[in-house]
Amino acid sequence: MIGFIGLGIMGSRMAENLVSHGFELIVYNRTKEKASELLNKGAKWAASPREVAEKSEIVFTMLSTPKVVEGVALGEDGLLNHFAEGKLWVDCSTVGPDFSIKMASEANKYGIRFLNAPVSGSKVPAANGELIFLVGGNKEDLEEVTPMLKVMGKEILYQGEVGKGSSMKLVINLMLAQSMAAFAEAVCLGEAMGLSKDIVINTLLNGATTAPFIKGKKDKLLKNDFSAEFPLEHMQKDMQLVSEAAYANNLAMPIANVTKEIYALAKQQGLDKHDFSAIYQYLTK
Ligand code: NAP
Repeated sequence: MIGFIGLGIMGSRMAENLVSHGFELIVYNRTKEKASELLNKGAKWAASPREVAEKSEIVFTMLSTPKVVEGVALGEDGLLNHFAEGKLWVDCSTVGPDFSIKMASEANKYGIRFLNAPVSGSKVPAANGELIFLVGGNKEDLEEVTPMLKVMGKEILYQGEVGKGSSMKLVINLMLAQSMAAFAEAVCLGEAMGLSKDIVINTLLNGATTAPFIKGKKDKLLKNDFSAEFPLEHMQKDMQLVSEAAYANNLAMPIANVTKEIYALAKQQGLDKHDFSAIYQYLTK
């Protein structure tokens, strides 16, 4: 039996791909209603992370923040305390590399194996089984979960030892956050100078200066529909993790830190649950 904890935007879709490809799945989520579709499709419900641990050989977690992952994994009723020796925990949440190393060491205290496998790709790739896994940890453990990763993703990129998957994920999200903010600011400038939003967006998208992923955000900006694919609060969290990683490695990142605070201000203004492209809404006049 495979366990899956965390059925938000990403986890619910990843778990659904596991079930639809015939994997026997037991799931837990803080908010049970989010599991109802999965339960209809044959997944079993666990009342706690403990029950997931007790009934699974391999457990995937896809949770919002390091603090939430820690809450689920550690403690008397946590995942690790009830997961038998030799079993395998795969954390797909976006966290920092030091945190992944800490979770690996906590798991190892119980003789539990640990992979960190964050993903690149958002709501739609998650639904289509087209995520890119960035994996850190033991290669043999990765081989064991490869059949599962293959139904959730289109690429599995091995990054090295535990923590390196998280390192690569932070590098990617740094680019996402900055590209989105730069694009939004450029559109705002164009509009402020009297160009139409439609013309500015389409001209930028036809040129070489725009990151390819922004094509997928075009309609959100044009229609001012910022329903979440990747919630802005998670992007702000990721930029915080970037900043911490820079500090840990004695690196100055002035552009990243300004960008981080722009997302923090947008979050403070109530855009936290919107898509991170709502940074445009925050910057616009
Ligand atoms: P989400 O929709 O906000 O889901 C977050 C998950 O964490 C839910 O299962 C939620 O449970 C759980 N959670 C939050 N706070 C909790 C708490 N205090 N106690 C227990 N559970 C808690 O987020 P998501 O978009 O799926 O993202 C999940 C992870 O993947 C994050 O680390 C994110 O940065 C990363 N990621 C997201 C995307 C994306 O495009 N969305 C892409 C790549 C990576 P409830 O359902 O009860 O709230």
